Amino acid sequence: MDSRIPDYVRQALTRDCGEVAAEEILAGFPARRPVTLRLNPLRGDTAETEGMLRAAGLDMRPADWYADARILPGADERDVQALPLYAEGRVYLQSLSAMVPALLMPLRPGMSVLDMCAAPGGKTTQMAALAGGQIDLTCCERDPQRAERLRHNLQVQGVRRAVVMNTDARRLDPMFRFDAVLLDAPCTGSGTLLTGEDSPTRRMEPAWVQKTVRTQRALLQKAISVLKPGGTLVYATCSILREENEGAVEEALRAGLRLVPVPRAVADALPTLPVTVPGTLCIRPTELYEGFFAAVLTKA
Ligand code: SAM
Repeated sequence: MDSRIPDYVRQALTRDCGEVAAEEILAGFPARRPVTLRLNPLRGDTAETEGMLRAAGLDMRPADWYADARILPGADERDVQALPLYAEGRVYLQSLSAMVPALLMPLRPGMSVLDMCAAPGGKTTQMAALAGGQIDLTCCERDPQRAERLRHNLQVQGVRRAVVMNTDARRLDPMFRFDAVLLDAPCTGSGTLLTGEDSPTRRMEPAWVQKTVRTQRALLQKAISVLKPGGTLVYATCSILREENEGAVEEALRAGLRLVPVPRAVADALPTLPVTVPGTLCIRPTELYEGFFAAVLTKA
C-alpha cells in the first residue's frame, strides 16, 4: 500500500466498501490522470476550438458519455493554459468525474438554478453551457477569495445570467425558491486522495469526517427548503464515504424527497463502486476518474 495513506483511511474504506474494493480504491489513488477539459459552446464553435487545440499540437479523444469532454493524454495543464483560447474561455479544465453532476441537472430555458457551493465555478459554467446560457443561476460561495475566482471564471467563460453571493449557503434567506438546486457539498475529498498533494491531509480523520457531515446535512436541509415543489436537487461530493453520500440521500428521503435513478447511459459508462441506495452513483478512483458521488432527488 502507498505509505502516504494513513491507517484510518484504509479502515474507513474497508468498512464502507469491503476489503477487495478498498484495495482497488487504494490502488487507484496514486494514478497520474491525464489532462481533461470541457469545450465551451458559449465561447465559439466547439469543433473549431478542437481544431485550434489540435493545431497547437495537442492530441485528444472524446469521452463517450459527454460530447463536450476531451481527454488529452500526454499533455500538461500548462500547455493548455498557455494558449490564447484558454484565456478566451473556449475550454475549461475539469476532471471527468466533476463533469457528471451538471449533466444530471434537468436544465430548461428560463429555469432558476441555485449552485450552493459554487467556486471556482466548474459546474456553474458547465450548467450555463449545457443550457445555452438560458438559465438564471444564483451561485453561493462562502470564501471571499474563491467567490472572486468564481466571478472571474463566469466572466471568462461567457456566463451572463449568474449572480454570485459571497455568503454561507446555510444562511440563505428562507424566502428564496429555485426550480433546481445543485449541492456540490464541501467534503473530505476521500475520492481524490493523492491528487495534487504529496501526502493526504488529516481530512479523513474520524473527528473531521463528523464535522464535515454536520455541515453537509445543514446544507442539505437548506437545499430542500429552498427547492420548489416538483424541483430537482442534485447532491454531489468528491468523497466515497457512505456517511457523506448515501447517508445524506437517506436523510433527504426521510424528508420526503424521491430518488430519481442516475440514467444508465451515464452510470454504465463509468467505473463504479457498490452503493447502498440503488440509483445513486459512486465513481471508483481509477487511472482516468477521481472518486465521486452523485444522486438526483425530486421534491413532491
Ligand atoms: N462546485 C465547485 C465547482 O464545480 O467548481 C466546487 C465546489 S467545492 C467542492 C466546495 C466549495 O464550497 C468550496 O469553494 C468552499 O469554499 C465552499 N463552501 C464550503 N462551505 C460552504 C457554505 N457553508 N456555503 C457556501 N459555500 C461553502
